[in-house]
Amino acid sequence: MQYKNVTHVLFDLDGLLLDSEILYTETFTTVCAKYGKTFTWEIKASLLGFQGHECAEKIVKELDLPITKDEFQKECCELYEVLFPNVQLMPGARRLVEHLYKKGVPIALATSSNKDSVDKKMKNHSDLLGMFHHLTMGSSDPEVTKGKPDPAIFLVCASRFPDKPKPEDCLVFEDAVNGIKAANAANMQVVAVPDPRIDPEQLKTATLVLESLDQFKPELFGLPAFDN
Ligand SMILES: [Mg+2]
Repeated sequence: MQYKNVTHVLFDLDGLLLDSEILYTETFTTVCAKYGKTFTWEIKASLLGFQGHECAEKIVKELDLPITKDEFQKECCELYEVLFPNVQLMPGARRLVEHLYKKGVPIALATSSNKDSVDKKMKNHSDLLGMFHHLTMGSSDPEVTKGKPDPAIFLVCASRFPDKPKPEDCLVFEDAVNGIKAANAANMQVVAVPDPRIDPEQLKTATLVLESLDQFKPELFGLPAFDN
């Protein structure tokens, strides 16, 4: 794969910079256990890539929970309030974001989460949030009319840099298949750092696939290399 030089970098948040997948598993496990049901790995695997309301519907149906999907989601939200503030950064996330920021590379956040959710999850990492030129939060942004895999979020995010980079000058970091598809549709190169359980077949359109952000070499895309 031939990499092209870029000038701007867009980051996904959940599962990419933040280790939030484990938190969703913990939440679903707790709510299911309350009704005497076991949230299994098989169900977890079937949910990867789906949105919150779709997950709720699948879980309630699969485990025959005695509540509606809306009630399930409400119970999950109560647990998120407790768990979100303790979510950890993914390995290499801080090093990479800090590095690009210090080297003057314009970076932005392009997440499907809403502002309230981002504020809660980034409460203990707020200094990192301050390094982004801007935050594009799909669920609470009127300009982002469709979610990933639609390219809207990345195109809107790129357009908010003052120098308005072309899509091909932007590099996206994503963990999800829908995010890779969105970057492809936006005509942006995309570095995928996927959950290891995702079928490699689904990652074929990523520009580069890494096991960890720690492995990323910025110079491959014409960005300043790490000093050490
Ligand atoms: Mg993600």
